[in-house]
Amino acid sequence: MAFRRIRILVLLGLLAIVALVHFGEQYLVRSWRAPLQVAIVPINGDGSETVSEYLQHLNVSAFDDIDSFLEKQASRYGLKLSGALDMRIAPEAHELPPAPPFGGNGLQVAWWSLKLRIWAWRQEKNGFLPHPAKVRLFLIYHEVEYDKELDHSLGLQKGLVGVVHVFASKEQEAQNNVVIAHELLHTLGATDKYDLSTSLPTYPNGYADPGKQPLHPQYEAEIMGGRIPRSADHAEMPKSLDQCMIGADTAHEINFSGAFHRQFSR
Ligand SMILES: [Zn+2]
Repeated sequence: MAFRRIRILVLLGLLAIVALVHFGEQYLVRSWRAPLQVAIVPINGDGSETVSEYLQHLNVSAFDDIDSFLEKQASRYGLKLSGALDMRIAPEAHELPPAPPFGGNGLQVAWWSLKLRIWAWRQEKNGFLPHPAKVRLFLIYHEVEYDKELDHSLGLQKGLVGVVHVFASKEQEAQNNVVIAHELLHTLGATDKYDLSTSLPTYPNGYADPGKQPLHPQYEAEIMGGRIPRSADHAEMPKSLDQCMIGADTAHEINFSGAFHRQFSR
């Protein structure tokens, strides 16, 4: 009996530690006190020569748009950041992450998310991270093909890990950054603001300008809405982060407003 109680106590203790770690992590990454450390881990998704060539020349400046986007959007909410992100590129990982169970039940998703976090941790042990990164983004690069649909990208709030499918081409970098920024914000607690079955942004929080008259066409995308609603039943992928903004709901989720209050309450 005593043994069983001890076992339950140990389990409860472990659960409490996991919850505390998650809470602490989320508090830290959303405090916006210092540039958020993000490690970018490239992966050759096709195993091709073209991608390998591209990765050899990949420089962190390819992701500068994301930093300036966040800085600019933060300032719209009154938050002054001197650099939103401290991004660095880690050595290439040579193994693909476990594939997500699409349409899987809650338990399958939880199991997969645990496997993904263990996988990410193993990759880090094999290679090394460029700095004590808070967020790890695994970028899976593919060759550009006309009309090719990439696998679904995702960002996990628990574990601060993102797996993002992108194209290995200079011309695609601006649009890659839209997808990367979206998944990065997921790791910071932002939720999707589009309809999963139609991919259309939800109204009003998935719209960049929900008060516009007439409502369509919109000219920008809310970053978690993902697309620019040109009409009630058609939305387009933004070409770059210049065509994106962070709406009020997302700003609240990633604590732009809380950080603003703290900045000015001292
Ligand atoms: Zn999403």
